[in-house]
This record gives sequence, C-alpha cells and structure tokens, in this order.
Amino acid sequence: MGKTTGFKEFVREAAPYRDAADRLLDFDEIYTAHDEARLTTQGARCMDCGVPFCQADDGCPIDNLIPEWNDLVYRGRWREALDRLHKTNNFPEFTGRVCPAPCEGSCVLGITDPPVTIKNIEMAIIDRGFAEGWVVANPPAARTGRRVAVVGSGPAGLAAAAQLNSAGHRVTVYEREDRIGGLLMYGIPNMKLDKRTVQRRIDLLRTEGVDFVTRTTVGEGGRGSVDVRRLREENDALLLATGATVPRDLPIAGRGLAGVHFAMEYLTDSTKALLDGRTPALSAEDRDVVVIGGGDTGTDCIGTSLRQSCRSLTNFELFPKPPPERAADNPWPTWPRIFRVDYGHDEGVAKFGRDPRVYSVSSKSFIESSDGKLAGIRTVEVELKDGRFAQRPGTEREWKADLVLLSMGFLGPEHGVSDLLAVEYDQRSNYAAEYGRYLTSANGVFAAGDCRRGQSLVVNAINEGRGAAREIDRYLMGSTRLP
Ligand SMILES: Cc1cc2nc3c(=O)[nH]c(=O)nc-3n(C[C@H](O)[C@H](O)[C@H](O)COP(=O)(O)OP(=O)(O)OC[C@H]3O[C@@H](n4cnc5c(N)ncnc54)[C@H](O)[C@@H]3O)c2cc1C
Ligand code: SF4
Repeated sequence: MGKTTGFKEFVREAAPYRDAADRLLDFDEIYTAHDEARLTTQGARCMDCGVPFCQADDGCPIDNLIPEWNDLVYRGRWREALDRLHKTNNFPEFTGRVCPAPCEGSCVLGITDPPVTIKNIEMAIIDRGFAEGWVVANPPAARTGRRVAVVGSGPAGLAAAAQLNSAGHRVTVYEREDRIGGLLMYGIPNMKLDKRTVQRRIDLLRTEGVDFVTRTTVGEGGRGSVDVRRLREENDALLLATGATVPRDLPIAGRGLAGVHFAMEYLTDSTKALLDGRTPALSAEDRDVVVIGGGDTGTDCIGTSLRQSCRSLTNFELFPKPPPERAADNPWPTWPRIFRVDYGHDEGVAKFGRDPRVYSVSSKSFIESSDGKLAGIRTVEVELKDGRFAQRPGTEREWKADLVLLSMGFLGPEHGVSDLLAVEYDQRSNYAAEYGRYLTSANGVFAAGDCRRGQSLVVNAINEGRGAAREIDRYLMGSTRLP
C-alpha cells in the first residue's frame, strides 16, 4: 500500500480537460498534460484493499492489477507500473483515454469518498512508457506454423491478434475499411482518441509480425472481397471480430428526407476528412443539428458538430434525467447510473450557454420544407409508467433542424459472413458463442467483441479478444499458456 493514511489525507483530484472554449477550435485531444505530483498523490489514496473491488466483477473487465500499479506510481516506479499494466491490457493507451472506468464506480473508497482516479493513472503510465521508449515491439521467439485469420480490426480483433502472435501463430487481420482500428479509428473521434495513438500501436503489432489487409471485405469473394470459406480452409482457425454495426433506425414519417443520417455515417466521414485533409462531405457547419439518442455516440456527434460550427444543437434523450446520486436500486459497487457531464455537454455550454440535452423526448415525425427538404422534427414528452413510455398530452412541439443524427444504438452484427459459415445466432441476433469459450457452431470459427456480446465497450472488446485468443491457442495446440 502506497501511503497508509493517503485516503484520509488527500481528496480526489481528477486531471482536468483542456478549456472547453479552446478545445472547440480544433480536433486535438481534450486531455491536459500529466501532472506527476498530482498522480503520485492520487496513487497514495489507494487503500490496497484486501478485496480490491476495482478489479472484481463490477470493476475492471480485464482484471487490471490496479492496486499494484497505484502503489508503484506512488513510489515513482513507473517502469514496473507499466509492466504490471501490460500484463492484463494490450492497449492501455486506448482504455486510459476512452474507458468509462467501471473500476472507479466500484472502488471501495467510493463508498464514503470520491474514488481513486484510476483511469488518469492508467493513461499516465502508458503515455510515460511510450515517451521513455519503454514500449517496444516484442516478436515471438519461435513460430508454431499455425495460421489464424481475424476478420475485423477493432479492439477485439487487435487484442486477439496481439495475443495469438505472441504465442507464435501467424496472424492476418482483414479489414474492409481503408484504415485499421475499427471504432477506435472510425467511430471514437480524434479529440477523444488521437488516431496517431491508434496507428502507433498498429505499427508495433506489424513489427511484431501481425499482417494487416485493408480495403478487403470478407464475404462472398469477388472484387475487393475475400471468400470467407476459402479463408477458413487456408487457416487453422478463424476469428470473427466484426463488431455490432447494424444501427437502430427511427422509422417515422419523413425518415427518407435528405438530412437525416445515422451517427456512424457522420462520424466516419468527419474522421476520414480530418485524416485525409479534405472538407467533410457531411458537415454540420451552419446547420441546426438535432442528435437523437445519448451515450458515447451521441456525445461524439455533439462534440463533432460543435467543432464543425453548427448553428444550433439539441440532443434528445428518451429517458428522464438521471439522479445526481445513486438511487436505492443502484448500490455500490454496481456501475453508478447517475447524471454525468461528458466533454461534449461542457462544450455545448461553452458555445451556446446551455447543455444540449433535453430529456423525456420522443420523436414523432420529421418536418418537410416546401422545397422537399428536412426542416425540423415534431416531438412529444413521455414518462415512464409501468416500464413503458407514455405520451404526456399537450406536450407536442416542433424543433427546427436541417441535420438530424440518429444515435440510438446498434441492433447487432451484420450476417453476411456468418451466414456463409452457417454460424448460429443468439436471441439478440449476435453470433452465438459461449462467453469464455468463444467457439461458434462452425468448426474452428470463433467470435469475440461486439459481434458476440452486442454493442459494448472497448475494454470488453479487449477482454473478449484476449479470451478468444486463449481458446484458439488451446484449440490449435491442445493446451495454452495465454492468460
Ligand atoms: C461513436 C462511438 C463511440 C464510442 N465511444 C466509446 C468510448 O468512449 N469508450 C468505450 O469504451 N467504448 C466506446 N464505444 C464502443 C466501442 O467502440 C466498441 O464497443 C468496440 O470498438 C467494439 O470492438 P470490436 O472489436 O468488437 O468491433 P469494432 O470496433 O466495431 O470493429 C469491427 C471491425 O470489423 C470490420 N468488419 C466488419 N465486417 C467485416 C467484414 N465482413 N470484412 C472485413 N471487415 C469487417 C468493421 O469495418 C470494423 O472495423 C463507442 C462506439 C461508438 C459507435
Ligand atoms: S478498490 Fe479503490 S482503494 Fe481499493 S484497491 Fe482498488 S483502487 Fe485502491
């Protein structure tokens, strides 16, 4: 344990983001430089609990050795902290930036005080590791002669590739996009996760021996595509890590009007434009934007629209505003379902003087202008009654909008590849494969990440990728040493 009385002496001090008004002027990361003195003090707050709930079921999904590296940071032993961090997490530079940190929600200190700033410490350890040159390619000493194909290059596919390659297997990752990374590359915007940070890790994996094939859809075969059945035959195992890419639609009147788009269409174009140095094809500039739906995707649409100089911005939430503190049915150590202010909401206040979110709003129809374009949305307020949303009479309202972004979650994975392999589905249309085993109904075909569990988090995708790699290694070699 760092400092025996640290948790009594020091208060939580999270690293601030850059000033909201300043950061709106660019797409650079929102984070400020690491402050070593503050991080050391925050590390000292960790109580090194006998039962570290930060690592347990409700806490970190990849069992990060949190109390160990908190202590090492307090003692200034950053190199050892990095080694402990890499033992459980292939990509702490991603989770340190984008994870909602369930570990902090279940930190024991959180029962009486604000929790340890675990996420800040994680990010500082890995950023220091790169800055000091401690993170280097580590290719396997020997090759097994076995080949594995991974379909999809998001965090699940990348984590699996890293682990399988470290076990000596030849791994090829196939991606239909022009860049590797899945939602790390095209989804989460640059201000939350700089794409150079993603590319840096991909370059390391390549140096370690992982092969990447981009602009190639795995499916029927033909131009720009690889036949998945041939891929299965040519490899000793196949991992599907294709993500949950089918968006939930809003089939109300006027849905077909130009100006109504899925969030991913908008966010992908924005990041591609930024990286390719071109003007976005679908910009929020000078437009009245309504984002329908919250979560990370909704917030990212808000942050991106503000940076593209939208004229006005509103974010509809179907659910009522969450309470400021945990409700009675949401006790520690479960994830606190409380009101939170994310980066985009702060930026909305900086630009327009108000948080863009409005709650308990249901969209009824899109409004068409006289020249056939999107002009707005009609809504009604709703309330939750017996688990169902009921409309409040007399609350109908019209909102001006010429760009609407649908951010209402994802229904599951596409079925093109899985149908060709005769993979079975679960009740939610995900690829059916038991958690912990990851084997689908097709021989030698495994599944991990959002395509198996439904839309989730980067940290869960990394966990599943690592787990699937372990099971594939066992399948290929009869036993495994992978964690
Ligand atoms: C806008 C947005 C913001 C998010 N923000 C956060 C956040 O802040 N924090 C967090 O923890 N989580 C966040 N998430 C969720 C997180 O990004 C996902 O849970 C995670 O990326 C899932 O990883 P994955 O590897 O399973 O799939 P994905 O990252 O979706 O990657 C799947 C890849 O497979 C490729 N693919 C699919 N089919 C084929 C095929 N047939 N052939 C070739 N390639 C194929 C796709 O192109 C894609 O690149 C966010 C999600 C979105 C949409
Ligand atoms: S639960 Fe909190 S205080 Fe306890 S070991 Fe984990 S980070 Fe430290």
